[in-house]
Amino acid sequence: MITRHTPHHRAAPDTLDPKERWQDSGICGLPDFEDYRPLFFAPTNDLDAMRAAKSLCSFCPVQTQCRQWGLDQGEQFGVWGGLDERERRSIWRRASRDRTAQRKAAA
Ligand code: SF4
Repeated sequence: MITRHTPHHRAAPDTLDPKERWQDSGICGLPDFEDYRPLFFAPTNDLDAMRAAKSLCSFCPVQTQCRQWGLDQGEQFGVWGGLDERERRSIWRRASRDRTAQRKAAA
């Protein structure tokens, strides 16, 4: 169970850092989409749920910010900005390899 603030489980707006106000505009935070929120944290083998969540993200006005948040915060679970956890891990691994290569090149 995710307990801290996420776009999927909105907290009172005044608890948010101004930099995080984008989270108020996420589709998954809208009351009409409450029934869909579990899709964003479905088991990784539930591909239908994951596809449905990603489909909602594709219409979301804050997809870019949400995706970056998920990457920057090291979110281990769920769909964030259309990326699932496996896709985020792949991006992190690639970034780590790139940093290692850059360090070696600079040495
Ligand atoms: S991009 Fe997806 S996960 Fe992020 S706020 Fe929008 S609907 Fe929610």
